Amino acid sequence: MSKTIFKNVQILDSTGTQPYLGEVLVENERITEVSPGVGKINDPNALVIDGRGQTLMSGLTDAHTHFTWDNRPFDQLGNTPVEEHLLSTIDSAKTYLDYGYTMCFGAASAKARLDVVVRDAINAGRIPGPRYRANGMEIATTAGDLVDSITQTADGVEDMRKVVRATIGLGVDNIKMSISGEEVTGTRSAEDTYITEEELQVAVDEAHRRGVKVCTHARSRDSVYLSLKTGVDVIYHASYIDEQGMDMLEAAKDRVFVAPAINWLVATLEDAGQFGYSHEAAEQAGYAKELDVAVKGVQEMHRRGIRVLPGGDYGFAWTPHGTYARDLAHFVNLFGYTEMEAIIAATSLGGELFGQADELGKVQPGYYADMILVDGNPLEDITILQDIKKITAVMKNGEFHRRPHENMIIPKEAHEPAMATV
Ligand SMILES: [Zn+2]
Repeated sequence: MSKTIFKNVQILDSTGTQPYLGEVLVENERITEVSPGVGKINDPNALVIDGRGQTLMSGLTDAHTHFTWDNRPFDQLGNTPVEEHLLSTIDSAKTYLDYGYTMCFGAASAKARLDVVVRDAINAGRIPGPRYRANGMEIATTAGDLVDSITQTADGVEDMRKVVRATIGLGVDNIKMSISGEEVTGTRSAEDTYITEEELQVAVDEAHRRGVKVCTHARSRDSVYLSLKTGVDVIYHASYIDEQGMDMLEAAKDRVFVAPAINWLVATLEDAGQFGYSHEAAEQAGYAKELDVAVKGVQEMHRRGIRVLPGGDYGFAWTPHGTYARDLAHFVNLFGYTEMEAIIAATSLGGELFGQADELGKVQPGYYADMILVDGNPLEDITILQDIKKITAVMKNGEFHRRPHENMIIPKEAHEPAMATV
């Protein structure tokens, strides 16, 4: 049995309790004991970490992940040959874990099998990466695709049933329905909707029959209605949700999750210029207006207690891999979340999103030991979670992906009882 004890850590357990000084015992892949105070947990066979007062918290969640986006401009996502694409997909998986993300919810794969192959390699211990729910290629109706080269099309109920079944046959955990537009395409408005209720319903029914979750690219008002009417599990964006949609969402809040992926809107306005999409072009396309209504929408969701998760659309040229925790700052600065609420959304709600609320996303006995050590207090400054140098250790499933610095590891003789008074 492998054992690790964290001593002298500020435990941020994701229950809403303020951080407290304490100790945590990890046995094999799970947390087995969490104790406030000092000197309560001892075991001569354990690896003992002196946390030096750093924060020990759950690993983070990204609710809208694309391992296969390889930092290219939007319209070139499908251009990478499969061999290089597999390598970049492996790199993204590792990058998420490097930055303390232990739960990622796949939101579409640029090629059919890249997500499932990489998920399986992670689970087999061949490559490092977070817990991952793999997706297939986006599914859209004819001329409803956002990027043709990464999308499969289906029209009508029986065609849709067939495409969804084939995608599920690849071994995916999630399917992605692209049902509204996106302004950067220049041809598909974010306020337009490209699917019928019957087409979306058959996709949801086929997926749920096989235990597969459904997520939607749903920016338009009507795409939110359709997602809620048909039983979609995770709604992405929901920018143009109206009062009626908000009421429907509230009525379904125990079942559905929203991930706005707001950083895409922010970065498209602020950071895309260097890649040839100027601020003026973004504003003209409607991104400033969309950001404004989307932020107001999430503020209202927050008031109504809807489960909104961070994460989303990292891996484009202007939302590169490794910048994932920008989302947490947006939750605080744009949506009005407290730092504690933002962290709970990124941890505890991740456990709920994964359907494992009693074993993922908290630092409590019985939970999987997916934890990060943070040099500082993210409740005082949420942006420290963007700084990899502040994330001093990453543990997933009870094993260190990144070990704490040697000077935080207490030598064995120092924690044996006979030496305790030296
Ligand atoms: Zn996306």
